[in-house]
Amino acid sequence: MVPMDVDQPKQEAWRNWKCFTIKIKKEELPLLNQRLKLYGYNTMTELTRDFILCKFPIVTEDRQIQALQGNQQANGLSTALAVNCPFEPSFYKDTNLEDMLNYLLNIRKLQEHNARSLVSYFRRFSDIFFGRDPTEISKLTPHKRMWVMQSMRQFGNYYFYKTNNPDCKELIEKIISRFGLNVGWDRQKRIYIVDGNFVEVKLKALLKVEGEIGLTIRIGLFTGLREDEIVYAHDMETCNNNSGCSCEKLHVVNKANGLTVVLINWIRGHKKCYFTIVPTGLWHQFREQLVFTDTDIDTAHKMTKKFGIKYMDLRKIHYNVMCKVMPENEADILVGRAKSVAARHYAIYEIDNMAEKYKEAWQKYNVNIHGQ
Ligand SMILES: [Zn+2]
Repeated sequence: MVPMDVDQPKQEAWRNWKCFTIKIKKEELPLLNQRLKLYGYNTMTELTRDFILCKFPIVTEDRQIQALQGNQQANGLSTALAVNCPFEPSFYKDTNLEDMLNYLLNIRKLQEHNARSLVSYFRRFSDIFFGRDPTEISKLTPHKRMWVMQSMRQFGNYYFYKTNNPDCKELIEKIISRFGLNVGWDRQKRIYIVDGNFVEVKLKALLKVEGEIGLTIRIGLFTGLREDEIVYAHDMETCNNNSGCSCEKLHVVNKANGLTVVLINWIRGHKKCYFTIVPTGLWHQFREQLVFTDTDIDTAHKMTKKFGIKYMDLRKIHYNVMCKVMPENEADILVGRAKSVAARHYAIYEIDNMAEKYKEAWQKYNVNIHGQ
């Protein structure tokens, strides 16, 4: 097309209009008219208007995905397009959620509640995720964000499975990175386990281990402590004075619900350990062990490796279990990743509440803490 400037200063209204001429061969004119009629147009102007308004041609799913992908690459373009053009991606809207659920259950072999949660997150957040402002999602807590990202990625897998079109998966990754939906996640990634199934399957296997090795595994799992903290918690003397004592020994408080709170307060550099919650029976068994050293942890590590996880991963599993019931900041305190001011506040004022949540979290995974 050759743009031709026909700015006519006399007619104010025409100032902002541009005229284009198209050159075609004379014998092509009947064909052009025929094709225009075929698509319901009388003039090229009508066609062009609909073309600009995204009414013609109908944007297929493939094209929608391509267009969105383009937007993710070209900075700033997505807003301009979104404002001027009524193009609304619909490729994900037609998703049969029941079918997606079946895919997650039968093809991906996810466990039922996990699969249902993913579908539900997809249902609730897909409009925002594929919409004009996905940054809304970054306002969610990291835990929810993790679920949203995971649900979108699973949708990408499902879409690929149904259509054999890999572009959707690519688009999802682009949206995630373009809008920084995984920002603040790097810190979390070390401790979060993305696959919810993983926790449940591993827990079952780990809790079957008996004897001393089983005890070492359980102490790691139920305290969420770091390896050196576990050894420290075994060896350190306990103080008998529980009323606001600030000595360096451990301060142990037994709670009525079968749980024990151990105030450890061991801080070295960025590694902090304030207190831990542990089933009382397990705590006694652990302290009754005459010797507990790194060697015990190494032995347990060899066992957990058989289930495909490192001993230090037990801490991650613990964190994931806690996050099922506790808000993030509370779980952070338990694994020593919070500010000490916050930890002190919780240790003093919220400890009973936290102990209740601790119990509830394990129950969600069908783990009876009294049997440990
Ligand atoms: Zn003391």
